[in-house]
Amino acid sequence: MRIAMISEHASPLAVLGEEDAGGQNTHVAELASALVDAGHDVRVYTRRDSPALPEAVPAPDGYQVWHVPAGPARRVPKDDLLPYMGEFGSWLADTWRHGGWTPDVAHAHFWMSGLATVHAGRRTGVPTVLTYHALGSVKRRHQGTRDTSPPGRVGYERALGRAVDRVVVQCEDEVRELVRMGVPRSRMALVPSGVNEAVFRPDGPVAPRDPARRRILTVGRMVERKGFLDVVRALPAVPDAECVVVGGPPADLLPADTFARRLSALAESCGVADRVRLLGGVPREEMGAWYRSADVLVAAPWYEPFGLTPLEAMACGVPVIGTDVGGIADSVVDGLTGDLVPPRDPRALGAALRRLLADNVRRFAYATAALDRIRSRYSWKRCAEQLGAVYASVAAATRPASAVA
Ligand code: UDP
Repeated sequence: MRIAMISEHASPLAVLGEEDAGGQNTHVAELASALVDAGHDVRVYTRRDSPALPEAVPAPDGYQVWHVPAGPARRVPKDDLLPYMGEFGSWLADTWRHGGWTPDVAHAHFWMSGLATVHAGRRTGVPTVLTYHALGSVKRRHQGTRDTSPPGRVGYERALGRAVDRVVVQCEDEVRELVRMGVPRSRMALVPSGVNEAVFRPDGPVAPRDPARRRILTVGRMVERKGFLDVVRALPAVPDAECVVVGGPPADLLPADTFARRLSALAESCGVADRVRLLGGVPREEMGAWYRSADVLVAAPWYEPFGLTPLEAMACGVPVIGTDVGGIADSVVDGLTGDLVPPRDPRALGAALRRLLADNVRRFAYATAALDRIRSRYSWKRCAEQLGAVYASVAAATRPASAVA
């Protein structure tokens, strides 16, 4: 099939670990690549955010990245991109009509891409699929007035749930949330994200570590909701362990990062500063070595639409303690592949860490079961097969593009 993927702010070619670059960039890159491996012809459309970007770039994995001229050719925070989505959608419609390549299906990532994609789909007859990646209602609940999303987000997301041909949800929690918003269950297909088993595997280089200390690893963008403050607060419960925090700006820019400074100050006041190491952002290809160097990965977000880091750790054979939220509640099977603890509860996290770090057999059992779970449920091959079936069913149910005037 010819598959268009629309990811307005998250280019598959972008650097990871910065404020607006995270799981969605990785997801789009790896999904596009898995779809190419499954024999599909894939183009990814993302906003042109620099004048230096050419219109189309072939990605090494065999798909193309198209840079769509919508809004200024410079970086704009993702929450400020709404005014340009009409322009984005019109450009898509024009190129699909007149550019010699009309997709059989268009898969939008994030609600703003959904708006552009529905706009283009209506003009061209191309069927549309949407993955939200994150929901405004959840963000609002957790971030309150600090949520910088445009005011209409929740309403747009609700409307998009009915406007697209299919919603691809990533976890059970998202299904429940959308049902509460009035999106019919029958419009949804549950396909979790995959994990790259070539990058994240149990064997391979291991980052240097102090053999005398247990290592707790935690990974993510330097934002409060990722729960790093709770991990630091839990550390006094495990006096023989160090905590390595991976993510945020590169190491030399960390001292200027407000949240990193807050984290360091908290570590001081908890008396654990000598056991907390902020590493800054690490290139993706080095992530496996950091996971493999750890005794446990802690993923302690307050909420998490999906959460790639637990899956990456599991694929490296590292047990996970995660908060019982969003996608983590699906990927970590409590007591079998890891432990689930309530969010924002450093005491529960500390107790879980103390128990797991003291129990080698349990860690081994979790790691083994986790690997098994990754191989059976979270391979990109399986994900691409499931999505291929979703695309085929929406394409079969929609008029061919040529039938639309
Ligand atoms: N990541 C990375 N380098 C870093 C920090 C994170 O490559 O320094 C990657 C990490 O391996 C994962 C992604 O960024 O693939 C983060 O995805 P997740 O779903 O955990 O969080 P998001 O950023 O989407 O909220």
